[in-house]
Amino acid sequence: MTAPTDIDAIRAAFQADLGAVATEADLQTVRDRYLGRKQGAVAALMKSMASAPTADRPALGKAANELKREIDQALATRRQTLEASARPAGGVDVTLPGRETPFGRRHPLTLIREQVESIFGAMGFETLQGPQVEDDYHNFEALNMPPDHPARDMQDTFYLDRPMPGAGGTPSTHPATLLRTHTSGMQIRYMETHQPPVRIIAPGVVYRRDTPDLTHSPMFVQVEGLLVGEGITMADLKGTLVAFLQAFFDADTRVMFRPSFFPYTEPSAEVFISCVFCDGTGCPVCKKTGWLEILGCGMVHPAVFEAVGYDPERYTGWAFGLGIDRVALLKHRVEDIRLFYDNDLRLLEQFPH
Ligand SMILES: [Zn+2]
Repeated sequence: MTAPTDIDAIRAAFQADLGAVATEADLQTVRDRYLGRKQGAVAALMKSMASAPTADRPALGKAANELKREIDQALATRRQTLEASARPAGGVDVTLPGRETPFGRRHPLTLIREQVESIFGAMGFETLQGPQVEDDYHNFEALNMPPDHPARDMQDTFYLDRPMPGAGGTPSTHPATLLRTHTSGMQIRYMETHQPPVRIIAPGVVYRRDTPDLTHSPMFVQVEGLLVGEGITMADLKGTLVAFLQAFFDADTRVMFRPSFFPYTEPSAEVFISCVFCDGTGCPVCKKTGWLEILGCGMVHPAVFEAVGYDPERYTGWAFGLGIDRVALLKHRVEDIRLFYDNDLRLLEQFPH
C-alpha cells in the first residue's frame, strides 16, 4: 500500500544517491534507478497507487508527480555542474603562472638613426621626413644632375611608370617618377619653402638597383645633412662632422677628409674614420689601410642654390650623406648588411628594447 511516507523515503534515498554522484556514468545510474520506465522507483510508486484507497489516489498521484519533477530537475542541474567542471576552459586556475606578453624591440637600424638624430639635434639640427617616391626634378635635376648627366645610371635607379602622388613644388622638365636614390632631394624640398639659415637632417629609406651582397642592399637607410647661412666654410663642415663622429663612435676616433666628387657639392670629400676593428693598425676589414670610409660631403654647389632661388653670392653651405646601414655594420661589427633586413630574431634580440 502506498503512503506519503513512501514518497518521503524515496526522496531521501534519491538525495543521498545524488550526493554521491561523481561522474556522468554515476548520474545515469541514479536516473535509471529512480526514473527508469520499468525498474525505476517512481514507476513502481505509480504502479502501487492502484491498490490505494480511491479517495487517496488524487493526492498521492499529485505528490508522486511532484517527486518525479523534482528528481528530474535535480538530475539536470547536477548534469550541468558535471559538464562545466569537465570543460578545460570552463574554470580558471588562479594558481597558474601568467602568460608573459612579448615585447617588440626597435630595429638596430632604428636605434642608430635615433642616435644620429639625437647628436645632431643637440647641435640644433631639425629632423625632416620626406617622400620615398620622388620626382626626377628633386632627386636629380635640382641637384645639378641634368637629364644627360652620367651619374644618372639607369642601372642604379628604380623608375616608376606612374605620376608623382600629390606632386607639388617646381614642376620637372623630366617627368619621370622614381624611388629616391638618396635623401638629398630633401635639401631641395626644404630650401624651396624656407629661407636661410638652414640646419636640417633628413633620415630615410632609399633605393638602388644593386644586387644584394655583403655590403649592398636594394633598400637601405641614409641620413642627409644640410647647413646653409652667410659665411659658412669648409671648416664648419669639418668641425661639425668630427664632433659628430667622435660623439657617435669614440672620442679618440681619428677623422680623415679626402677629395672626392659629387655633382651637388663643390669641393667634395669622402670622410674616413680610423678603423674601429684594428684601431688603425690594419686588418682585413679596412684592407690593411687602417681607415674606413664613412660618409660623403662637400660645400653646396652654387647650381643647387640657384635651383631653389638662393643667392649663391650671399649664401654658402655644406651637405653630407651618411649610410645608416654602413655605420650599423661598423658599430655592431656585423659582416653582412642583409642580416639587417632578414628580421631574424636571433640577431634582433641582441639589441635593447
Ligand atoms: Zn682595420
